[in-house]
Amino acid sequence: MTQDKLTIGVLALQGAFLEHVQHLEKARSKVGVDYAVLEVRTVEELAQCQALVIPGGESTSISLVAERSELLEPLRDFVKKDKKPVWGTCAGMILLAEEATRTKKDGQELIGGLDVRVARNHFGRQTDSFIMKLPMPFLKDQTPFPCVFIRAPIVEAIISKDSHQTTESNVRAPTVGKPSSDEVKVLGTIPADKAKDGEEKIIAVQQGNVFGISFHPELSADTSIHEWWVNTCVL
Ligand code: GLN
Repeated sequence: MTQDKLTIGVLALQGAFLEHVQHLEKARSKVGVDYAVLEVRTVEELAQCQALVIPGGESTSISLVAERSELLEPLRDFVKKDKKPVWGTCAGMILLAEEATRTKKDGQELIGGLDVRVARNHFGRQTDSFIMKLPMPFLKDQTPFPCVFIRAPIVEAIISKDSHQTTESNVRAPTVGKPSSDEVKVLGTIPADKAKDGEEKIIAVQQGNVFGISFHPELSADTSIHEWWVNTCVL
């Protein structure tokens, strides 16, 4: 029965959710535990999940549709109160940040959960998209991972709860539940020698139950980050 089986949701409001569903299905045989994958569009569907992926796409659209679907508060509870495992890729990581810069004039809603400030569209426009092979030190296999960056954000800073930096173009997530007692761990970077401006860029972070990465692993053929997430963060 699906009810008894571990259910991993993929937020399916906008963006590259189908590719995450396919990667999670592909990863299943390598993970050693059976699980169901569910596209989440409603509060009822979210309630069936023990873990959730928030895909890349357009964070402003995802937050708008989430608000209209009355999913924003349940999502914040899922991440920050219930502290269930959640993984955000690209726009998904923006939504999981406690603070984001370069947001639209009227801002956008964030879910929060990661005590970081992300800079949206750090590398420029769609045409500035690129693939870079980068080491992912947290994976067993140290073959550099083909990271697909599409109008990707970076983690600009790790913030503490009381270091409010809110300016006109920044938005912050509302406080929900108890602040995380876990530290933000940096799991991946673009090293200084590979960055255009010669400065290291943080592109993967984890804080307790929340994992965020700047790129799109679901758009490469490699399922190893999906396998790692299910094995290490979900199980
Ligand atoms: N630039 C997008 C945003 O701000 C994210 C892009 C992506 O998810 N590929 O939401």
